[in-house]
Amino acid sequence: MINFNVPPFTGKELEYMKEAIENQKICGDGPFTKKCHEWIEQQTGTRKCLLTTSCTHATELAALLADIKEGDEVILPSYTFVSTADAFVLRGAKVVFVDVRPDTMNIDENLIEDAVTERTKAIVPVHYAGVGCEMDKIMEIAKKHNLMVVEDAAQGIMASYKGKPLGTFGEFGCFSFHETKNFSMGEGGALLIRDEKYIENAEIYREKGTDRSKYFRGQVDKYRWQNYGSSYLPSDMNAAYLYAQLELAEEITKARMDRWNEYREQLTPLAEEGRIELPYIPEYCEHNAHMFYIKTKDIQERERLIDYLKERNVHAVFHYIPLHSAPAGIKFGRFCGEDKYTTKESERLLRLPMFYKLTSNEVEYITEQVKAFYR
Ligand SMILES: *Cc1c(COP(=O)(O)O)cnc(C)c1O
Repeated sequence: MINFNVPPFTGKELEYMKEAIENQKICGDGPFTKKCHEWIEQQTGTRKCLLTTSCTHATELAALLADIKEGDEVILPSYTFVSTADAFVLRGAKVVFVDVRPDTMNIDENLIEDAVTERTKAIVPVHYAGVGCEMDKIMEIAKKHNLMVVEDAAQGIMASYKGKPLGTFGEFGCFSFHETKNFSMGEGGALLIRDEKYIENAEIYREKGTDRSKYFRGQVDKYRWQNYGSSYLPSDMNAAYLYAQLELAEEITKARMDRWNEYREQLTPLAEEGRIELPYIPEYCEHNAHMFYIKTKDIQERERLIDYLKERNVHAVFHYIPLHSAPAGIKFGRFCGEDKYTTKESERLLRLPMFYKLTSNEVEYITEQVKAFYR
């Protein structure tokens, strides 16, 4: 069976985890966490990075920092993972869904302004498949209406829009290091903070509402309860696992990109015959090969193709039942405008296996099966 995903593993993780244990520092904010912070700050040029226990938690931190309150509205696509909405709903906000563009499956930047009301507090673009949303336009709207921007860049590390790394445009950017993402620590994430002024509160919210981070830096002689908060910092053992992969980030990204290009090359004839559609990458977006998907004619054809591939030992998956059609989406949200593409396009989308150690031979086998299905 060719799995849909195999968690990334480079070999060095065990050595670093052993080191974390020998450091006798397995709680949060140890030496490996610091190394990860520095690496991400360097790579993205963001003012501050804080590792978290998940991207969901990074987004919750962002919602706290954005001071989202009961009755506020937040604009996001319906075609996304639940966490994008959860973090804001937890604070009492209403989620207002906007349709996606059929080409990138990102929020349609031209429909955002229609969804703005006097209650709107933030826009939450999701960089689907590591392909940047139209950030020029989104930042312009945010500025005009005085809104915060929280980027769900869960899939977006090592990718950029017009040369600027994803996750660094808005006040806050959120990465995921879940086992299905390009780099992993099992469960984990990171919050990117653009402006200095949010750092102090971010550290307090992340450390149970205390100024323990200042205490560790020797800036105060005892730490005290300063505000509400939670525990959002991961174990240094997990950070050690992640750091091994960040060190090889270029190599991992190149391997994924090579497989992605092979997929595209081998499936282009089918796309030219109009049987399937392939992902579209705007020329000014540098993606990170997080995902390779195709679009089938409709949901029935997709179901048949999934079964066909399964019989031939290929595990292909679909995802995102649009949030606005799910029970919680009906309860906590509303769709603004017409659902022209969200449901229709999500029903056609099929993700093919993509992971660090996927081989060229496997990609060739998979694309042969897809072609055979259409023959
Ligand atoms: C993976 C993912 C998340 C959640 O990440 P976790 O680290 O599992 O919390 C959120 N949004 C998107 C778009 C994702 O792909």
